[in-house]
Amino acid sequence: HPHNNGVNGMASHQIPDIKFTKLFINGSFVDSIKGRTLETVDPRNGEVIARIAEGDAEDVEVTVKAAREAFDDGPWPRMSGSQRARIMHKFADLIEQNLEELAALDSIDGGKLFLWGKSVDIPTAIEYLRYYAGAADKVHGEVLKSIRSLHAYTLKEPIGVVGHIIPWNFPSIMFFLKVAPALAAGCTMIVKPAEQTSLSALFYAHLAKKAGLPDGVLNVVTGFGHIAGAAISNHMDIDMVSFTGSTEVGRLIMQAAATSNLKSVSLELGGKSPMIIFDDADVDQAAMLALNGVAFNKGEICVAGSRVYVQEGIYDEFVKKLVEKAKAWKLGDPFDSSTCQGPQIDMKQFDKVMSYIDIGREEGATLLTGGKRWGTKGYYIEPTVFVDVKDDMRIATEEIFGPVMSIMKFKTIEEAIKRANASKYGLAAGIVTKDLNVANRVSRSIRSGIIWINCYFDFDADFPYGGYKQSGFTRDSGMDGFHKYLQVKTVVTPLQDSPW
Ligand code: NAD
Repeated sequence: HPHNNGVNGMASHQIPDIKFTKLFINGSFVDSIKGRTLETVDPRNGEVIARIAEGDAEDVEVTVKAAREAFDDGPWPRMSGSQRARIMHKFADLIEQNLEELAALDSIDGGKLFLWGKSVDIPTAIEYLRYYAGAADKVHGEVLKSIRSLHAYTLKEPIGVVGHIIPWNFPSIMFFLKVAPALAAGCTMIVKPAEQTSLSALFYAHLAKKAGLPDGVLNVVTGFGHIAGAAISNHMDIDMVSFTGSTEVGRLIMQAAATSNLKSVSLELGGKSPMIIFDDADVDQAAMLALNGVAFNKGEICVAGSRVYVQEGIYDEFVKKLVEKAKAWKLGDPFDSSTCQGPQIDMKQFDKVMSYIDIGREEGATLLTGGKRWGTKGYYIEPTVFVDVKDDMRIATEEIFGPVMSIMKFKTIEEAIKRANASKYGLAAGIVTKDLNVANRVSRSIRSGIIWINCYFDFDADFPYGGYKQSGFTRDSGMDGFHKYLQVKTVVTPLQDSPW
């Protein structure tokens, strides 16, 4: 294992062995039918960590058959909710026992901070299992009040076989954000992790089996999006596709659903979220929130607060503090506990972010800090701050998915609302003010799925999360993220001689 040598003085024991690299279908790890594999790369240095199986339409076909059988004839949808919950809790316990190894896998695979993985990503994944385990035995319909002599009620049933297609920015959280509610609902499923970050997903498949999940319920097919992902969205026997990723691919998924079997679709897409900072804000806190809002997880976060609107009274002081903080923001190895930011996911994203920095300069924005690659190997990019940005510049309208911030000045609350809403996206927004009425008014006026007031990125398993406009539709997380995996059936029977 070349990666076991320890990079930049990091303790080598933190680098895990790669134990699982094959497709997980119907309870077993298997090679892809064609025997193909793909490389997964360590973004700290561009070296190949492992080769993993590359599934295609044939593998998806076999997997869907297994998932269909597990749904139509298997025990999982027929178990009581509490029996499913017991297995889900056991699954969560096993993740807890392997927490460090799983966090380390996401770090070498995705360049994510190891400390964050240990304290946030993996615990959140566990929390999703436990949260939805608690919902598994609380699935019930309602008795309907008919104006005719009819007795009617609804049944809630699992939607069936689900295809989950997930991105690389939060491999563990995304996995359980999708898988946990679907399991609780009694669905069976095929997960297609992002080709860049499949290692933890395969480890989770192994733990699912150990926890006692019946074969065929949770399958993981690794592979490329346009091949394995497209085979899922085009499949005639998958009942729902639940997708998180780019708006561009979201469109393809919906088209594929429309031209195949009209499967149910859930889309969590891109964003260009505004952060609005008012004159009465604590400037120091606002600068930290804004920097974190765009540089946390190297800006590879769909809710990144990449458009920062600052009221004119504190504008100069804010910009000064922000630049100071950006200069002190430490890049480095994600295993080093003092690191604030690791490398971008891959060469493609590195090039994309760097090209947006060039575009910003060409469009006439002023680069105050950052704008360069950090170090000599790996895909590190300095946190980058642009001012003199116009609302219609590409850096202010397009999702960059990297640590690049556009700062804009505003005068009035009405103006801030209007400009913040002038986006094709609507995923998140931040408001920094001490005035409760301003916060409430702006919250109600912004068209986006989540609003953070005097905080940013604060999540909980109970919070629904998703987009307005071209950021997608339906919600993940919370109880809204559960009900979408359930069908509603109305049962009607005549009622004779009823007293009322
Ligand atoms: P992507 O949308 O291509 O990838 C997301 C998932 O979709 C991956 O599992 C991928 O394999 C799969 N996929 C790709 N093409 C597919 C297809 N034709 N059919 C079915 N599945 C397919 O994202 P990306 O190319 O890795 O990143 C590009 C941009 O997407 C980023 O720069 C960013 O703007 C955005 N993004 C957003 C999120 C988010 O959470 N909203 C996450 C990742 C990326």
